[in-house]
Amino acid sequence: MKVLVINCGSSSLKYQLLNMEDESVLAKGLAERIGIDGKLIHERPGQEKLTFDLDMPCHGAAISWVMDALMHSDHGVIRDKSEIEAIGHRIVHGGETFTKSALITPEVEKAIEDVSELAPLHNPANLTGIRACAQNMPGVPQVAVFDTAFHQTMPEKAYLYALDYALYEKYKIRRYGFHGTSHMYVSQQAAELLGRPIGELRIITCHLGNGASVCAVDGGKSVDTSMGLTPLEGLTMGTRCGDIDPAVVTFVMDKEKLTTQQANDLMNKKSGVLGISGVSSDFRDLGTAAKEGNARAQAALDIYAYNVAGYIGRYAANMKGVDAIVFTAGVGENDISVRENVCAYLGFLGVDIDPDLNAKRGTALDVSKKDARTRVLVIPTNEELVIARDTKEIGGLLCW
Ligand code: ADP
Repeated sequence: MKVLVINCGSSSLKYQLLNMEDESVLAKGLAERIGIDGKLIHERPGQEKLTFDLDMPCHGAAISWVMDALMHSDHGVIRDKSEIEAIGHRIVHGGETFTKSALITPEVEKAIEDVSELAPLHNPANLTGIRACAQNMPGVPQVAVFDTAFHQTMPEKAYLYALDYALYEKYKIRRYGFHGTSHMYVSQQAAELLGRPIGELRIITCHLGNGASVCAVDGGKSVDTSMGLTPLEGLTMGTRCGDIDPAVVTFVMDKEKLTTQQANDLMNKKSGVLGISGVSSDFRDLGTAAKEGNARAQAALDIYAYNVAGYIGRYAANMKGVDAIVFTAGVGENDISVRENVCAYLGFLGVDIDPDLNAKRGTALDVSKKDARTRVLVIPTNEELVIARDTKEIGGLLCW
């Protein structure tokens, strides 16, 4: 069975085609600058990346070009559209409605639309992707996989904000959490790597990418996570501020005469390690600048590690212990010194990493010293695989 995974943004569309017999990736790529001009980057495993400048006035056109690339006589991987038996979509916000992945029906589309208010940048774009695929491949089952679903097991004490309860009742203002597919995948991989049933493990997963969040996974279930109503809360991120005193927002809006949109932009795009350093949101640039003596780049790195370690300590307390800590995503998988600096705070929890193991990259690995009580693992995430598996399970039922 072949499954197409789609992650649709407002002007971009990432895709991956998987053969679910062996879960191998047949091709993947990115259509970007949709609605501007249009560019397609198409890749097959072990082959050079191909780039095409194409006319992409809308997402429908982007999907057509993706299908052209997948079926192309030179660089294609399938002969006909009909080989794609199901399509899986990454949907950012499922609100309280979706606790697991769902077959896309008109009712499900409506429910995704209804929670768009909570993710105005993401859900409408995700819906555009669903509609473009429905037009291009009518009749092919489509499945929605939600970033928020894994966190729906959080207890009330973790998800309710200390605000007037009426706001929760009226607008469903609460913590939802994101990166759910990643936190779920790496926690399951961690249990496998440790050779222990996930049901008996307390794991803290750190998804550190451009966006970043930490999750407390107790017995395989999310019991707390650092992102909130939106992906802005929690850790200091590349360009997002994470936790700040909420009064800062009204103070700055007042002083700088900012509109709501400008305040949102400030917190989402001009803050985080970029805001502190004034250098970059990319940790490779920050590392280089810090080594060259840039004090603000160094401060950004220090604040980042302090913050991640703080969340790990908090979740260890909330779960009354921790057996394993997992690092994943761009920074978590690749940045040796971020892991080193975070773990330097955690000796009191029984963390003790081996510098040689911590310097390795690329595969799932336990980087702890032999006798360390709490294991530290580096596990590459694979959100597309989680989406493809759910799509196979839910969409596959309709194919026979
Ligand atoms: P996204 O949230 O967009 O999926 P990723 O998980 O791909 O992001 O993470 C991207 C970030 O990972 C980059 O901005 C960069 O800071 C960091 N990164 C990637 N490679 C490295 C590396 N070799 N060393 C340090 N940081 C890296």
